[in-house]
Amino acid sequence: MDKILLASNNSNKIKEFDEILEHKFELIPQSKLNINEVEETGLTFVENAILKARNAAKIGNLPAIADDSGIEVDALSGRPGIFSARYAGRQKDDNDNNKLLLEELIDIPFKERTARYQCVIVFMPYFDHPIPKIYCGTWEGYIGFEERGENGFGYDPLFFLPDLDCTAAQLSKIEKNKISHRGKALDLLKTDLLR
Ligand code: IMP
Repeated sequence: MDKILLASNNSNKIKEFDEILEHKFELIPQSKLNINEVEETGLTFVENAILKARNAAKIGNLPAIADDSGIEVDALSGRPGIFSARYAGRQKDDNDNNKLLLEELIDIPFKERTARYQCVIVFMPYFDHPIPKIYCGTWEGYIGFEERGENGFGYDPLFFLPDLDCTAAQLSKIEKNKISHRGKALDLLKTDLLR
């Protein structure tokens, strides 16, 4: 079975990748090889995902997969973008991020509260491969005026989907995966790797 390193230590992510790739690869979390997280110094999701995958592939001497994701809010000129996880500060959590987002958008009417989740997944066959595979998924929505729903994580309670009249946090995991930025990027990865 071919081995692939996953440049993440998040067990949910590892499980998700394993399921989507139909258990056809031996997915190894980078922590198993004592590979530390690399600093995300890129200016784009693509650069950060490449940095993470390249670091894992180099140290682990194996093909590696990494992802990077975040939310872009149009009324904030695309912020928080690549800084989504630490929008309210490095020591802050999802609650603080959502609170800050509501504060920043306090005077913005609904129709101007457009936003989108972005997910980039990179497959690096070896660390200095000149053309790493890049899979992108986007999910369009609006930032609501209050948190709604208990599922998901991060900005999901604020991410309103007008077509479904609910937030991402009101969708089940299965419903979310069918239409989300990550679901779309994972589908592209799957089509390519399972070919
Ligand atoms: P990373 O891809 O693990 O670096 O995460 C980026 C950050 O973007 C997360 O910590 C969340 O704040 C946000 N984010 C990315 N995808 C989602 C999602 O599906 N729901 C909610 N927040 C998300």
